[in-house]
Amino acid sequence: MAEKIQMTTPLVEMDGDEMTRIIWKMIKDILINPYVDLKTEYYDLGLVHRNETDDQVTIDSANATKKYGVAVKCATITPNAQRMTEYDLKEMWKSPNGTIRAILDGTVFRAPIICKGINSLIPTWTKPITIARHAYGDVYKNSEMKVADGSKCELIVTDKDGNETRQLIHTFKGSDGIIQGLHNINGSIASFARACFNFALDTKQDLWFATKDTISKQYDHTFKDIFADIYETEYKAKFEAAGIEYFYTLIDDAVARVVRSEGGYIWACKNYDGDVMSDMVATAFGSLGMMTSVLVSPDGVYEYEAAHGTVTRHYYKHLKGEETSTNSVATIFAWTGALKKRGELDNIPALSEFAEKLEKATVQTIEEGVMTGDLYVLSTLENKRKVNTQDFLTEINARLQAMM
Ligand code: NAP
Ligand code: MG
Repeated sequence: MAEKIQMTTPLVEMDGDEMTRIIWKMIKDILINPYVDLKTEYYDLGLVHRNETDDQVTIDSANATKKYGVAVKCATITPNAQRMTEYDLKEMWKSPNGTIRAILDGTVFRAPIICKGINSLIPTWTKPITIARHAYGDVYKNSEMKVADGSKCELIVTDKDGNETRQLIHTFKGSDGIIQGLHNINGSIASFARACFNFALDTKQDLWFATKDTISKQYDHTFKDIFADIYETEYKAKFEAAGIEYFYTLIDDAVARVVRSEGGYIWACKNYDGDVMSDMVATAFGSLGMMTSVLVSPDGVYEYEAAHGTVTRHYYKHLKGEETSTNSVATIFAWTGALKKRGELDNIPALSEFAEKLEKATVQTIEEGVMTGDLYVLSTLENKRKVNTQDFLTEINARLQAMM
């Protein structure tokens, strides 16, 4: 066999929990270590070790990501009451993804992996639709109240000199009601915009953005204006040179266009729109096992992962010694995304080419009819075969070997 591909800068490797932790090791053993002299800085984000380190390991891994620029993360348990007893936890540790996102201040881009035979429920969608969700503010950091009949509700803003500006929301006459106060921060909107413009350039895809600016003439219009200003002053020339487009429209028009489209673009969404639309897009494209996710920070740091969780139900089967057929595609693509980015940043074309071959071999395996159970029920191929977790990786490796 040819010599292993050498790396110069380490990848930040964040290990995780349950079935995805099992898959994590298999992917490295079967698909990566035989070809790449893998250089990683390893952080064990498995719940046991997070508990042992009082979650310091999560913070350390995020800081290492800032230092090196590229991380690959395994799915991790976000503890709830049941996990407290299952793992005898000192505390109900916060979601690692939340902690990492807060440190990196990033935007999450989610995209499905498309294979022939695994058709979208929307037949026109033949290319991936990547959703970027603004992960700050709006209804997720609101304050709200129930209001009694007869109450007068106002917005009051007190500026730094103590001057008040008031605006009537509503005077309740004849019925009780409800009110809600939302906010956002221009700096956060600008970071989001830059992350989206950068990712569009990175992946050479058009960027769509939509709000309800006709109705919300201050709030939503500010999102529209910040995007437009940053596009004009910082990105227009780069987009033209790359042959891609920034397209703004109203949210209802965007939804209609998305359904009619063939895909192949990034759809930037306000927080609530992204929450709702990412579930719709993921469902239409089929299995959770095929959805990738990357966190991109405004200063160009990348953290790659699968969008799904630790696949607990399969893990319990695995522990009982039963055979599993867990889809490893999104986790494989987290690794290939990270290796490609490392190759690009360190100017190691062989590393990027390897990652691309691994992606091709993975898609080819499914398109040749060899797949895990979640895909088996979706595939329209006539000659299809369901394989177990490990055999799926071995099948990919057979095709990868043929390409090397
Ligand atoms: P999940 O792990 O995504 O699994 C939900 C169900 O979706 C599975 O039971 C399975 O369905 C199907 N599924 C998901 N990924 C699959 C794959 N790769 N291959 C085959 N089937 C797949 O979500 P969950 O059960 O709600 O959460 C489990 C744990 O993951 C929780 O502790 C949660 O905190 C954590 N979580 C972590 C992340 C993250 O780290 N990014 C994200 C979400 C959840 P069937 O059982 O019907 O086969
Ligand atoms: Mg949601």
